[in-house]
Amino acid sequence: MPVYFDHNATTPLDPRVLETMLPFLREQFGNPSSIHRLGRAARSAIDTAREQVADLLDAHPQEVVFTSGGTEANNLAIRGFAARCEPARMLLGATEHASVSNAAESLVADGWRVERVPVDGEGRIQGEALARLLAGPVALVSIMAANNETGVVQDIRAVAEKARAVGAVAHTDAVQAAGKIAVSFRASGVQLMSVSAHKINGPKGVGALIADKAVDLEPALYGGGQEQGRRSGTENVAGIVGFGAAAALAKAALADYAAATAQLRARLESSLRAIGGIEVFSARAERLPNTICFAAHGVDGETLLLQLDRAAFAASSGSACGSGRAEPNPVLLSMGVAAELARGSMRVSLGAGNTVAQVDAFVAALVQALHKLRPAVRRAMA
Ligand code: PLP
Repeated sequence: MPVYFDHNATTPLDPRVLETMLPFLREQFGNPSSIHRLGRAARSAIDTAREQVADLLDAHPQEVVFTSGGTEANNLAIRGFAARCEPARMLLGATEHASVSNAAESLVADGWRVERVPVDGEGRIQGEALARLLAGPVALVSIMAANNETGVVQDIRAVAEKARAVGAVAHTDAVQAAGKIAVSFRASGVQLMSVSAHKINGPKGVGALIADKAVDLEPALYGGGQEQGRRSGTENVAGIVGFGAAAALAKAALADYAAATAQLRARLESSLRAIGGIEVFSARAERLPNTICFAAHGVDGETLLLQLDRAAFAASSGSACGSGRAEPNPVLLSMGVAAELARGSMRVSLGAGNTVAQVDAFVAALVQALHKLRPAVRRAMA
């Protein structure tokens, strides 16, 4: 098994979560809409999970709409909202996930105008630019709570306050923030918030949109009216139960998780600085405790990643490799990082199970890989 440093991509299923799910994949197979006892048992398990997810996010259980994941939650928020009003302007953060950006861009054909709120060099939303963009009429503002690549945490409360002051609805993609830092739906002031189970040691294929009842949304799916009519279809009972269990565990472990991952991240960060020729991004911004994004000057991130993969470390390069040459990481580009450096970026995202020994072994493997790659880079440039 490789050392796993890619927890922002996905996390392993917690064995305790699996245990809560198994009965619903075996003998407790009832349809939650059925009146008989098997159905009632499934319904009651969903109700419990709804409370657990609401509890993690400081929301009301009735505000939780279970979906197939963060992508669907983002689509339901953005496309569901847009379907119920006249085309207008929508503001997105410059570093949003593709499930927000592409959902929003899909609306341009219907007459929507999608504008980006720029970030500063550290990846933080520029408050003045947001205020300027909010001077004209805006229907929806969607700014992520924490970035998947850099870990940068945005001041969602301030964003929501400004958005709502001009009558706009505020959405946040909290897929990376939930379970890693304290997130309060109520205190944040947003009316829509997306979350996903597989980022918090829950199962893949389940998430939720936390939605204020007052926000009119076109349902994601039409059918039997499940999830208060907002997302029809027989519920993914085992997945939802697993999400609930993962949410409860994440809430109980939040302080320990933050302390443990922050300590490992600090150790890794100081080791990276000691190597030299390495840029750590967003180091001056508030970040998720588990995330660090960096680049080694003159080294391609994809190549470095493959070297580390050979040494049995699983990290992420954050750049999309579709056309032979890796594209520079768009999140870093929007922060004003030069394309060459952005092409070399790597992300390490730590999790509860990681250790000091793993971090130290990673640094040793990285140093070795850089020794190997840097002369090759120098030759290629000569
Ligand atoms: N939003 C962010 C910030 C993410 O990091 C991800 C997953 O990578 C998603 C949304 C999509 O969530 P899911 O994989 O549950 O569809």
